[in-house]
Amino acid sequence: MSSALAPGSTIGIVGGGQLGRMLAIAAARLGYRCHIFDPHRRPCAAEVSARFTSAAFADEAALKAFGEACDVVTYEFENVPVAALGVLGDKLKPGIRSLEVAQDRAVEKRFIEATGARIAPWRTVDGVADIVAALGSLGSPVLLKTRRLGYDGKGQAWVHSPDEAAAAWEAIGRQPAVAEARVTFEAEFSVILARTAAGETRAFPISRNAHEDGILRRSRTPAGAPIDAQASEAVAQAAAIAGALGHVGVVTVEYFACEDGPIVNEIAPRVHNSGHWTIEGAATSQFEQHLRAICGLPLGETALVTGMASMDNLIGGDVERWAELIAEPGARVHLYGKGEARPGRKMGHVTRLS
Ligand code: AMP
Repeated sequence: MSSALAPGSTIGIVGGGQLGRMLAIAAARLGYRCHIFDPHRRPCAAEVSARFTSAAFADEAALKAFGEACDVVTYEFENVPVAALGVLGDKLKPGIRSLEVAQDRAVEKRFIEATGARIAPWRTVDGVADIVAALGSLGSPVLLKTRRLGYDGKGQAWVHSPDEAAAAWEAIGRQPAVAEARVTFEAEFSVILARTAAGETRAFPISRNAHEDGILRRSRTPAGAPIDAQASEAVAQAAAIAGALGHVGVVTVEYFACEDGPIVNEIAPRVHNSGHWTIEGAATSQFEQHLRAICGLPLGETALVTGMASMDNLIGGDVERWAELIAEPGARVHLYGKGEARPGRKMGHVTRLS
């Protein structure tokens, strides 16, 4: 514990969205102060934090001053230009390697394959001809995904035949991409685990995830069949991925549960939407666990404290039901304090324990 960050220390968070907000709330409980770095004028994490720097993610001078004002710096968003973050040096936890891998789907896929975990067959795509070739070698359909800056199903297009290739290439903005074979899965799940600087890992109980239009709609823990039978293999793979990254903090590995075992979909080098249930449903929340790992504190217990926890996202106009949800006995409502409820925007979530 000698290297543990003392209460009163300042934790920098690059990115000011709802994940940063929930990290800052957990940090306040442990007596830490947070400093948010985000290009927006009033990001929702800044509203619950001691300090806020509004500057572009690539602004090295602003990042340097921010780093000097913090005792440790983390990120809640993986699409931050890696070059500029170099100025944060060893204060950045998790390190740059985790970001480099997670922000480019091709790099990520090669990395996951090298750890021995299974992924969907894939090809790199740099133009229409590559999409047509991928249909030939992977079979139809393929899912085109931009290598960079995709999230919540954005930057993706299904391609069923060569005559759809040009339109799909336009639809994703003619950017370097990957094409993936379609995975036939029985369910989707995520492994959320924390890794300390000393290499200790601890996973949360696995969540079963339901997506709509590429956006997480609902997570439920315990995950149930057929996921539970794949849990130990998936957790071992996720721990190997975290170790190979030299990751410090929480990392999430998203999976497809297939008839013949787990297939990795993608890595998020951070706390994850599918772990929001841990705030009320686990002995330690994913946010506190991340802080424990990056601050050099012992990891907390992760067991479910109830029979079942489910989390529903409030997306876009769903948030207008806030008054009704708050009146529901036992519903734990989280509102992120964001402004306009645009379609597809994550505005809050509700957790129910039973
Ligand atoms: P992603 O942005 O990669 O997490 O994809 C969003 C969602 O699209 C996933 O959670 C799946 O529901 C679906 N999806 C992504 N990749 C594939 C695939 N190769 N085969 C089938 N469904 C997929």
